[in-house]
Amino acid sequence: MYRTHTCGELNLSNKGQEVTLAGWVQRIRNLGGMTFIDLRDRYGITQLVFNMEKNAKLCDEARSLGREYVIQVKGIVAERENKNPKIPTGEIEILVDELKIINPSTLPPFTIEDETDGGEEIRMKYRYLDLRRNPLKNNLLLRHRMAQEVRKYLDEQQFVEIETPVLMKSTPEGARDFVVPSRMNPGQFYALPQSPQTLKQILMVAGYDRYFQIVKCFRDEDLRADRQPEFTQIDCEMSFVDRDDVLNLFEGLIKHLFKTIKGIEFAEPFLRMSYTDAMHFYGSDKPDIRFEMKITEITKLAKGKGFGIFDQAEYIGCINASGCAEYSRKDIDALTDFVKRPQVGASGLVYVKYQTDGTLKSSVDKFYSNDELKVWIETANAKPGDLLLILSGQKEKTLKALGTLRLEMADRLNLRKHDVFAPLWVIDFPLLEWDEEMQRFFATHHPFTAPVDEDISYFNSDPTKIRAKAYDMVINGVEVGGGSVRIHQKELQAKMFETLGFTKEEAEYQFGFLMNAFQYGAPPHAGIAFGFDRLVSLFAGLDSIRDVIAFPKNNAGRDLMLDSPSYLTEAQLKELRIKTIPDEEK
Ligand code: ASP
Repeated sequence: MYRTHTCGELNLSNKGQEVTLAGWVQRIRNLGGMTFIDLRDRYGITQLVFNMEKNAKLCDEARSLGREYVIQVKGIVAERENKNPKIPTGEIEILVDELKIINPSTLPPFTIEDETDGGEEIRMKYRYLDLRRNPLKNNLLLRHRMAQEVRKYLDEQQFVEIETPVLMKSTPEGARDFVVPSRMNPGQFYALPQSPQTLKQILMVAGYDRYFQIVKCFRDEDLRADRQPEFTQIDCEMSFVDRDDVLNLFEGLIKHLFKTIKGIEFAEPFLRMSYTDAMHFYGSDKPDIRFEMKITEITKLAKGKGFGIFDQAEYIGCINASGCAEYSRKDIDALTDFVKRPQVGASGLVYVKYQTDGTLKSSVDKFYSNDELKVWIETANAKPGDLLLILSGQKEKTLKALGTLRLEMADRLNLRKHDVFAPLWVIDFPLLEWDEEMQRFFATHHPFTAPVDEDISYFNSDPTKIRAKAYDMVINGVEVGGGSVRIHQKELQAKMFETLGFTKEEAEYQFGFLMNAFQYGAPPHAGIAFGFDRLVSLFAGLDSIRDVIAFPKNNAGRDLMLDSPSYLTEAQLKELRIKTIPDEEK
């Protein structure tokens, strides 16, 4: 038997017992005639004691161990003199009689501590060492718990977990595909699923009624902190439902997770906000509603008074940074630099300070009277001590810039707390987006999303006006899930493909299997997919999804531990009948 107990379970009730433990050497401390070792496993840490007077040989052996050695010890559980109330085993220690080195360890390149000295690169290369650290371990345990609760809830709601293939065909989620060559079908490629979208719809045609899968999806996109080339979705689909059935059921799932995992109960239904309102008041389709600071439009009030920049603007809007009237020249300059960054894209920043003595101070005093500025202040509901930050320009762009500035101000004012959760649904997205560069429409969600019934007539007049029966769940400014009611009529689907610029042949080549399936009795259906990694990182209070994934890739899409992707041998390429183009010929 390797062990009688784990390193996390012994306490005073075990006093006097002989036990055997196995684990990793976390720390060794030599104090006079005593040597203390912290022995670690997944469950915790137990203190081992070696006494020079009692057994010099054993104590010497203990002193020769190194960090991360795997050892086994036998000894007696004793009460500690210096108790450590911070850990469950902190009242006891093991007086060791026998020690066995199971496996020595090379000195790890960084410390295996909660706060480590290792940089991100080296920790990714030695991921197995990083994963020994508590913060990562706790994230993976949280992820496991959440997956179990998802399964439990959906199982109770009659969902069936069905696996779909990884070697698939291109799916329309709008990113590039990862592709896999087929040796048996030379010149042909599988695509890894960007999501199991088409297959889950086919499962509805097949009559499974309620499907789910915790599934890997693959998208070849540029990477960010909350994006990985492969990520996990809680993918779901249901038949004979309309939008509200889906919203209610999956609001239930999220509430269940909050309750069981975090002990937080949401008694009220989640807010449902239209896409238009989200853009208008928050400058984002994923509004962070942990705090107010809504955008106020002042176009009519500020235009036409001789201030050229505003006079030429399609839209003028502001946010009210509460309590920031004291901002110095330097602060304002920093904010101006911020809004001018290419990612924000504003050309400048105008401010009005409503000073605590009731007077106004602004960067546009020359163009506006005190009374005029007062009206802006009132419209934006500002109080003495507040600061209005104003941007102008093309409407959509300016709203987005205001949305970004709003988040920046919230960060400065510490309004985005990790332990406050503000979920909502964003609904009524536009069905289509016009792409100026490509001169064609794209589906905002995906091509199978149903239009709102009363908007269908716009297909022939102004397709940009069509709203979609699509919805996103947003928590704290993060889109954690999204889905839609699907088109289940062959004709409407054909109309959609046509509007998206597919020829009949193209649609047939790419989605013929789905259109065929729809001929054989497709039920009305709808679904949703949650980004599981994002959901876990949100619950863990993290900004990045990397640390809730056991083996993530870096920003260049590389797995530093596996050193992947890597080159194939000539023989492999030949067998696949693939020729690669050397860099210089590209
Ligand atoms: N397949 C969609 C996605 O990955 C989700 C859905 O519509 O169910 O975003």
